[in-house]
Amino acid sequence: MPLFSRKVPFAEAARVLVSELQQHGLPPAISPDLEELARLLHPLERGADSTTPPDPMQGFLDSLPDPAGVLTRNGKLVQSNYLLDALLGPGRSLGRSLLEATRSAELGELATQVLAGASQKREVSLPGLQKIVLASLAPVSTRDGNRALVILRDLTEQKRSEATRRDFVANASHELRTPVAAISGAAETLLAGGIPLDETARSFVEMINRHCQRLTRLTQDLLDLSRLEAGEWHVEMGAIDVLPLCEQALELVRARASSRGVFLSTDAPPKLRLLGDRRGIEQILVNLLDNAIKFSPEKGRVTLLADATNSHIVLSVIDQGAGIEPRHLERIFERFYRVDTGRAREAGGTGLGLAIVKHLAQAQGGEVGVESGQGGSRFWVKLRAAVMAT
Ligand code: ADP
Repeated sequence: MPLFSRKVPFAEAARVLVSELQQHGLPPAISPDLEELARLLHPLERGADSTTPPDPMQGFLDSLPDPAGVLTRNGKLVQSNYLLDALLGPGRSLGRSLLEATRSAELGELATQVLAGASQKREVSLPGLQKIVLASLAPVSTRDGNRALVILRDLTEQKRSEATRRDFVANASHELRTPVAAISGAAETLLAGGIPLDETARSFVEMINRHCQRLTRLTQDLLDLSRLEAGEWHVEMGAIDVLPLCEQALELVRARASSRGVFLSTDAPPKLRLLGDRRGIEQILVNLLDNAIKFSPEKGRVTLLADATNSHIVLSVIDQGAGIEPRHLERIFERFYRVDTGRAREAGGTGLGLAIVKHLAQAQGGEVGVESGQGGSRFWVKLRAAVMAT
């Protein structure tokens, strides 16, 4: 039977044709056009036999760029758009629950919660369909009563390319570590006086050594960041006393501060305790303090402050540097984002410190932020409070 016969809905026929085209490696340029045509025709075909007036909800679903549908109060899909039908497979959407259609217990659970009245938004993996989706579910009231709207944004390709990028960065940094360590070892041996060097040779070896140290920091930061992004960094949450934590963090950067003539101080009420991963928080504070020292004027002061709100502790690192222009603030926690590229590189930065801070805080359920003006900057991290010590 010809594919585009009257008996086969056009949307279905187009979908079969697209998959045939893909299997036989025929011109891929045709498939997006057919997909689009099928998407546009789908609602018309759905409504073709119907005598009822057009349903605004169906119109809304068909206008969405993501797979979407509507659940009745008993959890069955009663409406879907073309993209949801294509995602779940022909004939697998209407009349089924999300659990039946996707075999994802997590999505089934989200459906139960939304039908109880609470909106939900979560990344969910659909193993049966080999997809990862961002599921957004919200209660809606339609002309047929209270129902739930489900939108499943397909993140599979995005996740796959993120994982490829992460693996590449992690592998490349790992491979770079051994040669960089060898060059660095050789340079240090030469500088330690193994072989007599004249002044010019020494300055070259010093330059090699300096750049090796930067490369070592860069590869280490890249490895840390890819582990964090891949969720391979294991948090060990526990209650931590804030004042000693702040004092220890200041000790770790004291030598650097005094070599630059910067004063350090901390102001943390005694007895405050937070819930977090000690190693992670120390790293966050050292990165923020390092930056504050690096961007402070001589004789400037860097303060580490701790404040308690109802259920959270906010740690702030405040400096008296030149501050950061507002247009940079939104992007400052992105990897490799630098305000003044030349100056930051000269100061030995990798451009990854704040990205690591953000990921470390998020891994512990925390948040980060910055406020900055002409008199300096305040970088803060907000973490959960633990029960107060008595
Ligand atoms: P870097 O290793 O270059 O310091 P970061 O990710 O730690 O990388 O910081 C990114 C950029 O943010 C820095 O290059 C600098 O331009 C800016 N920055 C960070 N902290 C401060 C600060 N306390 N004062 C002014 N600028 C800052």
